[in-house]
Amino acid sequence: MQVRRQNKKKIADRKAEINMSLIVQKFGGSSVANAERVFNVANRIKEYYDKGNKIVVVVSAQGDTTDDLIEKAQEINPKASKREMDVLLSAGEQISMALLAMALEKLGCPVISLTGWQAGMKTNSTHSAARIKKVDSERILRELDQNKIVIVAGFQGINRYDDITTLGRGGSDTSAVALAAAVGADLCQIYTDVKGVYTTDPRIVPTASKLSDISFDEMVELASLGANVLHNRSVELAKKFNINLEVLSSLEKEEGTIVKGVKYVEKMLVRGVARDNDVARITLQNIEDAPGRAFTVFSILAKKNINVDIILQSLGRDDKQDISFTVPESSLENALEILNENLGVIGAETVLYDRNVSKVSAVGAGMSSNPGVAAAMFEALFASNINILMISTSEIKISVLVNQEDAEKAVRAIHEKFDLSHI
Ligand code: ADP
Ligand code: ASP
Ligand code: MG
Repeated sequence: MQVRRQNKKKIADRKAEINMSLIVQKFGGSSVANAERVFNVANRIKEYYDKGNKIVVVVSAQGDTTDDLIEKAQEINPKASKREMDVLLSAGEQISMALLAMALEKLGCPVISLTGWQAGMKTNSTHSAARIKKVDSERILRELDQNKIVIVAGFQGINRYDDITTLGRGGSDTSAVALAAAVGADLCQIYTDVKGVYTTDPRIVPTASKLSDISFDEMVELASLGANVLHNRSVELAKKFNINLEVLSSLEKEEGTIVKGVKYVEKMLVRGVARDNDVARITLQNIEDAPGRAFTVFSILAKKNINVDIILQSLGRDDKQDISFTVPESSLENALEILNENLGVIGAETVLYDRNVSKVSAVGAGMSSNPGVAAAMFEALFASNINILMISTSEIKISVLVNQEDAEKAVRAIHEKFDLSHI
C-alpha cells in the first residue's frame, strides 16, 4: 500500500495549528449489533470529538449480518461468483455506517458516512480477499476539514474497474489501519467485545490474562495462527507504517492492549496461544521417490493460489514416499480437485484428506533463545493425552496439528503449562 506524502504533511500542519489529535476508531460487528450498541458507540465517538479531536470511524457489519448474507447467497446459488458475493457482503457495512451516522446526527454531531469507494479505498482485483493498494484520502480530509466525523464502511474497496471488492473475513481492522496510515492518524483504536489482546481466546480460557502490550511480530503470528481479535494484515500494515495501535473494549472504559514495535515489550517465552480450525490435512500416497516431486506438487497448488502450511515428507520405502501438508479448509475442495486432476503428473497413487484437524500454536519472541519451549509444550500435550499429528516451528512460534476435538483441551494445557493466567 502507498501513502501520499502530501496528505501526511497537510494533516500534520493542520494538527500543529490547533493542537489536536486525529484518531481512527474501528468498531466491530458486536459493538454495533443493535440500536443500543449503536448509541453506545455514538456516545463514545462524541466524547472524543467534543474534546477537539478529528475522528475517522470504521465500522463492520452488525452482529451476524455477514454470515446471514452468506446464507442468503447459499439459498440462491452456492456457486455464486466472488464478484457478486462482494457486492452482497459489502452491503452489511453500509447498513452500519448509515445507522451510526444517524445516531450521531441525533446526538447533534456533524457527520458523514462514506462507502469504501467514496473514501478512496483502492484495492487489487482479488475478490473476497482483496489487498489495499492505496487510499485516496482527499474526500476524507475535506470532510474532516469541515469538522465532520467521517464514518467509513470497513472491509470494502473498489478495484481499477470500479468493481466492489472485499478484504476477507475480519478485514475491517485492515481498513482502519490503512486509513490511519493514509491520513497520518496519531492513534488507531480497534474497539471490540473483549478488553484487549489476551494470552489466548478468553472464550476458551476464561482466566486468560489481558496483555498490556504486545509486539507487532508476535501479534502478526497470533493473528495469522487464528487469534481473530485482529485481522493479520492489519497488523502487518501497522508494523509497516508504525501506527499506534490499541485494541480495547467498546463496552467498558478500560485501557486496552497496545500493539507496537519491540521497544519496551517484555520478551516472554510464550505470550499467547492460538487455535485455528480453518485447517485440513492432505496426504499424497505412494509418490515416486525421485527429485522434483515436491516441486511438482507445490507449484501446481501455488498456481491456484492455495496456501500450503505444515509440510511433512515421509522416508522413502520401496522407491515410494508420502507427502502430507495442510491447507486452509476453505481451500480444500479446490486443492483436491487440482491434485486429482494431476495425479498422473505428480506420480502419486491416492489423495487422502482430513477436515477434522486444528492447528494449535504457542507464540513468544523469547522462545527463539530458549530450547526448552518445544519440549515443555509437547509435555503438556502428552500429559493431556493429546496426539500430535504434525509439528512446525519458526523463530517465535511452535505449531502442532491435532484432532479438532482435542484443540481446546490443547490450548488449555499449553496455557496452563506456561502459567499464562498469572502474568
Ligand atoms: P469484532 O467483531 O470486534 O471484529 P472479532 O470477533 O473479530 O470482533 O474478534 C474478537 C474476538 O476474538 C473475541 O471475542 C475473542 O473471542 C476472539 N479472540 C481470539 N483470540 C483472542 C485473543 N488472544 N485475545 C482476545 N480475543 C481473542
Ligand atoms: N463484516 C466482515 C466480517 O464479518 C468484516 C469484519 O467484520 O471485519 O468478516
Ligand atoms: Mg474482527
